[in-house]
Amino acid sequence: MTATILDGTVISQRMRAEIAQDAARFEQQYGYPPALGVVLVGDDPASEQYVRMKRRACEQAGIRSIPHLLPTDSTQEQVEAAVKSLNDDPSVHGILVQLPVPPHIDEEAVLRLIDISKDSDGVHPLNIGLLAMKGREPLFVSATPSGCLVLLKEAGAVLPGANAVVVGRSNIVGLPVSLLLMKENATVTICHSRTRDLPDYLRNADIVVVAMNRPNYIKGEWLKPGAVVIDVGTSKIDDPTDSRGYRWVGDVDFDSAVKVAGAITKVPGGVGPMTITMLLANTMKAAWRLAGKATL
Ligand code: NAP
Repeated sequence: MTATILDGTVISQRMRAEIAQDAARFEQQYGYPPALGVVLVGDDPASEQYVRMKRRACEQAGIRSIPHLLPTDSTQEQVEAAVKSLNDDPSVHGILVQLPVPPHIDEEAVLRLIDISKDSDGVHPLNIGLLAMKGREPLFVSATPSGCLVLLKEAGAVLPGANAVVVGRSNIVGLPVSLLLMKENATVTICHSRTRDLPDYLRNADIVVVAMNRPNYIKGEWLKPGAVVIDVGTSKIDDPTDSRGYRWVGDVDFDSAVKVAGAITKVPGGVGPMTITMLLANTMKAAWRLAGKATL
């Protein structure tokens, strides 16, 4: 068997075209564009690259991007002041704090400051708490986990009653993906670094979402034939055969997994583009919610 490839780039292109139309409608109605404020602290090359990609995607969709680029040695007060100024600016609808922030910054305090109605990255503890509660809905679900759900639905995965295994329990990916799958009535098992015999859990999994940051770790022979596999992992590994000397890989050993899975994402070109797309979608949701109330 060879798995269907879930192409996040193609799905994203379709969704971003719809988002661009929505942004144009918004601007026509209100006379100003939807806007996303971005706070980046420091000069980590990967974070700078993510912020550049998000800015480009915003521009292409007709969403104004408002960067606050702060030096690495910024104080807690300076970072918090950037978030507060975006909170207070009625022309800003969504706020993204690019993570991780430098170690001397209290990340939780910064995220807690974001106005929940502008939390288009879904990282405010209240939004994550609402996601965890039965019968409650968060205002926003963070972009990578909601991108995973879109990919699963595009794969035609039947989630109610499915055995879903999530590998990784981080606040930004593993935990919220698990909560989303539970909301969709899957039976969810969360595996982590202390899990004994990971292959044993994967053998019974109809759905597998992997976010562990261990390049090529999950082998095809561990998977249930026909499983739908979403690989969030993104690691740069040396590759002398590539003209750049490196390439990006996921946490799933794609070459062996593609022979066993029913559907699978690639790295790059799977979850990555979906993350940016869902951030744009959340920003539009925030813009429509807030615009009616704003006075510019
Ligand atoms: P993280 O905070 O480092 O969390 C990794 C998780 O994997 C932890 O829960 C850890 O368990 C678990 N883990 C590590 N080794 C394991 C093992 N041998 N067996 C089972 N579980 C293991 O990472 P993250 O922030 O969630 O990111 C995960 C990956 O996704 C990274 O490669 C990151 O670059 C990528 N990512 C991609 C996107 C995108 O848009 N494409 C977005 C976000 C992240 P413990 O909790 O026990 O330590």
